[in-house]
Amino acid sequence: MSKNRQVIIRELPKGELTEDHFELREAEMPAAGAGEVLVRTILMSIDAANRAWMQGATYREAVKAGDVMHTYSIGEVVESKADTLAAGDIVAVEARWAEYVAVKASVAEKLPADIRPLSHLLSVFGIAGKTAYHGLVGVGRPQAGETVVVSAAAGSVGIFVGQIAKALGCRAVGIAGGQEKCDWVVNELGFDACIDYRSGNLFRELKAACPDGIDVYFDNVGGQILETVLFQMNMKGRVVCCGAVSQYNAEAPSGPRNLPGLVVVKRLRMEGFIVMDFADQDAKAEADLRSWVADGRVKVVEDVVEGLENAPAALVGLLAGENRGKRMVRVAPDPA
Ligand code: NAP
Repeated sequence: MSKNRQVIIRELPKGELTEDHFELREAEMPAAGAGEVLVRTILMSIDAANRAWMQGATYREAVKAGDVMHTYSIGEVVESKADTLAAGDIVAVEARWAEYVAVKASVAEKLPADIRPLSHLLSVFGIAGKTAYHGLVGVGRPQAGETVVVSAAAGSVGIFVGQIAKALGCRAVGIAGGQEKCDWVVNELGFDACIDYRSGNLFRELKAACPDGIDVYFDNVGGQILETVLFQMNMKGRVVCCGAVSQYNAEAPSGPRNLPGLVVVKRLRMEGFIVMDFADQDAKAEADLRSWVADGRVKVVEDVVEGLENAPAALVGLLAGENRGKRMVRVAPDPA
């Protein structure tokens, strides 16, 4: 019987995650039990949240040392012992960093057959695009003409936030690491401006890029950047709390120090969300995203790392800002 390659968490990190926290190993092939399906992994989503899961329970259970690393993936059903799915179906699953997983059919979501390449089911029509859409439209609720600022602007979620803001008639300003990345965000994605938070002049440069203040801040990073942005929010501004990637590798959390004073004085609304909260709006999100992709208002940028064995490096690199657009790992080719 053939083996199933998988990546386990050898040890949970304290502080910065490194490739040494993981180990590649071979295990026996799993088998589908009654009500289960055997899924061949095609693409695994690499998310900043993967690191947050190692800090403890979040919106899902914590991952533990010895676990095969948890992920969200796209795969093909190769064997079904359930009535609802058949061999050949393309599914999204809460899976593991492994070539094959056996899961309950009830947690495998059958995906639309007309979307190709399959990578788009992780990027624009998947977790990245939907997080951007629901966070901005459902929580931030920007009006045309307003200024939207997004951090981690060149990343998986950030690239879509700014482009959706533009499609809605807003001014879109990004914050990202490095001038080259910022130039790319403006020149390739059409943001109005993008500020390099490593330049040391974030406050001043943000003020210059947002002459009318900030109406919506889509916060992917938390920490010092959130602290700086809060000072420039307009009255009745909205802060969309999507995540806090600046804190995921930190041993001790930091910032912002100006809460709740600025929230009170400026009458801000700060609201967190998880993409699944808006599942009832997914069809509308997908329809809008499809039309913006079709008319060129939203460009899809994907950063695909080849090979299961490179998943640890892909996650470590994402946290270090290596990626542009939606990062994922290809484990097997798309089926013909
Ligand atoms: P991503 O944006 O593709 O990658 C993370 C980016 O964060 C890196 O590219 C890096 O870009 C930036 N970064 C890393 N350390 C930073 C620091 N100390 N300060 C500022 N920026 C830093 O990752 P993602 O998976 O799409 O996640 C983005 C955010 O969305 C995360 O906070 C994640 O938890 C959140 N998220 C939330 C939901 C939800 O349902 N609420 C769903 C998906 C994702 P630079 O080069 O610009 O530093």
